[in-house]
Amino acid sequence: MIHLKTEKEIEMIANSGLIIAKLFAEIKSLVVPGVDTADLDTFAETFIRSHKGAIPAFKGLYGFPGSVCVSVNEEVVHGIPNKDRVLMEGDILSIDVGVKLNGWCSDSAWTFSVGEIDKETSELLSMTEESLNRAVATVTKDSYIGDIGAAVMNCVEGTKYSIIKDLVGHGIGRDVHEEPQVPNLGKSGHGIQLREGMVLAIEPMLSCGSAEIVTADDEWTIVTQDRSLSAHFEHTVALTSQGARVLTRA
Ligand code: MG
Ligand code: MG
Repeated sequence: MIHLKTEKEIEMIANSGLIIAKLFAEIKSLVVPGVDTADLDTFAETFIRSHKGAIPAFKGLYGFPGSVCVSVNEEVVHGIPNKDRVLMEGDILSIDVGVKLNGWCSDSAWTFSVGEIDKETSELLSMTEESLNRAVATVTKDSYIGDIGAAVMNCVEGTKYSIIKDLVGHGIGRDVHEEPQVPNLGKSGHGIQLREGMVLAIEPMLSCGSAEIVTADDEWTIVTQDRSLSAHFEHTVALTSQGARVLTRA
């Protein structure tokens, strides 16, 4: 069942989302060669908890051990923070953050470059971000869930990048994961019609190679099957009476 949110509830989620937006602005300068992903997790957890009533929503979710997911290079999502995973010049790092503030969740992801990255990798990041922006732009009261996936597909079509089709976005509110699922593939005008009060986490993931994914030995980290680089951008978006409102942007 889809839980529609009131304006007041959307405001609560926006307050939660603002913490993530601020966290990304702060953590950006820490994503440099030599830092390990456990340090970034510690910084994120401390930052989130410094806001009264806020907790890292991913910690313990389905048993996840970290406060944030930190996925390097071919890792798509769900990377576990690790003291031994030291970032190197030319890496890319996706940080996926969930915050629960006074009972309301927000969810956002960003892929950062570590030092200088090559042109192809840089294009992967900008393409993935662009596909998210185009997907968000489809959110209106006249649109359908399928329009979101179609926008991602249209953005990527004709390029060398693949959409990781087995992972999807989701509704969000009291829980991190609510109905409906928000696939990154779709057909315009198909699926559930969007309604005022829906809050969706829209999250395209692209790779430079295969669209197929496998789970790593740690049973958490999802990696591309061919170990090609992957990027992930995500925003929590509400459909309000004024149209789409991105709740995880400052
Ligand atoms: Mg996320
Ligand atoms: Mg999500």
